[in-house]
Amino acid sequence: MTDAEAGTGALLDQFLRLSADARRLRACATEDVVLDCALLILRDTLGYPSYCLLREASGDLRTLRASPDAPPVPSRTLLGWAVQQHAAVGAPLGVGRCWILAPLDAGGESFGVLAVVADGPESGLPRYRLQMIEHLASEAAWTLAQLRGRERMASLSDLFHHVLESVPHGLLALSRDDRIVACNRNFEFLFGLRRVDLLDAPYREALPKPLSELLDGLIASTLSGRQIVDQEFPLRTGDGPEVVVGFSTALLQGERGPEGILLLCRDLELSREVQKLRDLDVMKTEFVHTVSHELKTPLTAILGGTELLLADAAGLSSEQREVLGFIEEGGRRLQALITDLLDLSRLESGSAVMERVEVYLPDLVKEMLPVVAPINPRCAPSLDVAGPFPHLLLDREKMRQIVQNLLSNALKYSPEGGAVRIRLSARGAWASFEVSDQGIGILPEHLDRIWEKFYRVDSSTTASIEGTGLGLPIVKHLVELHGGRVEVESAPGAGSTFRVLLPIGHGAEPAPL
Ligand code: ADP
Repeated sequence: MTDAEAGTGALLDQFLRLSADARRLRACATEDVVLDCALLILRDTLGYPSYCLLREASGDLRTLRASPDAPPVPSRTLLGWAVQQHAAVGAPLGVGRCWILAPLDAGGESFGVLAVVADGPESGLPRYRLQMIEHLASEAAWTLAQLRGRERMASLSDLFHHVLESVPHGLLALSRDDRIVACNRNFEFLFGLRRVDLLDAPYREALPKPLSELLDGLIASTLSGRQIVDQEFPLRTGDGPEVVVGFSTALLQGERGPEGILLLCRDLELSREVQKLRDLDVMKTEFVHTVSHELKTPLTAILGGTELLLADAAGLSSEQREVLGFIEEGGRRLQALITDLLDLSRLESGSAVMERVEVYLPDLVKEMLPVVAPINPRCAPSLDVAGPFPHLLLDREKMRQIVQNLLSNALKYSPEGGAVRIRLSARGAWASFEVSDQGIGILPEHLDRIWEKFYRVDSSTTASIEGTGLGLPIVKHLVELHGGRVEVESAPGAGSTFRVLLPIGHGAEPAPL
């Protein structure tokens, strides 16, 4: 039946039903339900059984919904034109049919296009038909915008909550009528209070007397325009010991002026203790650096002298040569330790400088193989480069150190002639350098600790293997300087795999491999 045959009354009836149905879309709780309901209205109320619903996402047209008999999607040019009209428009679609294209626009956001198949040429489409589809599309888009807004609000409120909880201070927010509107975990912890007892309560009733009296003064000063920064007060609440608390305050500024007061507080004694420990750590790093440096010069002289004597050892007895041999070997070990200590102190103090150049890691690894070979001469590490491997922006010397440390360990902690495998691969934003051995392996309880300074797994097997316990902490620092991370998998008796993940392209977004 045509519109003319149906008559004005039927059309009016249809329009009223559409308005009522479309308004009901607002009650839909998810985007999917909105889309499904809109299409039901289209089919059952308006009598358009053939449709598709499209979205342009990152330059691609995506069909969100389509009726089983929907014709092929309109071209992107046609859809782009329809979106720009900001109203429902007709467009040709083969003989005897046409499209009605209605953009799903609301609140400055475009959610896609509702494309409906109508009978007859587009030139014969009555204006009210376009308006009906437009009305439905605009109600659907409005609801979608509301849902998106709600979603954004929820994630904003989550973010606000996380920020509140992560502030390393106790935090208390008061409304203009002196009620507690927010507080964080640190505040609860600092004063031994529970949030459930505080929220929405007037602060004078909810907080212990000494604290609320203190706040009276702080609030009055803040309201009179004084800014309070880390003002110290000794405070004892309940049976706990007296603590010195530093308070800072600020007016909570709303759009129409102050809406309350924000108080930040921290245990100053604890902060001072932490600061003291930090200062001590810096002093220790400086001390290690100075001592190592002072040891280096005499040691170089000792080693140089020993080498000279050994080079011209004709007049020496075999015992004397043996002693000189011990001195040289001990000297070399000491030199390695001092070099590691100096490297680590530079890395810890943050004074290490990165000099990035383009490096082809497979070549660098090949260069390092002869350097480490003497550690386990019967072992020939295999190198496997999986697929095309990119050039990386690396500090060549630091990368050599990473490769040398991990390869040395694999050879050192493997039996004579044991298999060591090096694997290089690249996937997504990450390049991976992996060294696997079938050596002694590491018990799970040591796996976290091997990255600590001077930590060596203490066992009968490792006792005879030389080392300083500084190699892996240096590797970790160096890898992190490159913006990467290092991982280990190991099983005692079966071997270990150390994996270095490096970002491809300086500043590339980290992504899981
Ligand atoms: P070290 O100089 O002692 O090798 P590292 O910092 O390089 O110091 O390593 C710390 C400890 O981790 C080592 O003492 C060793 O117990 C363990 N370790 C490191 N690499 C391996 C490996 N490939 N196989 C087994 N144990 C390892």
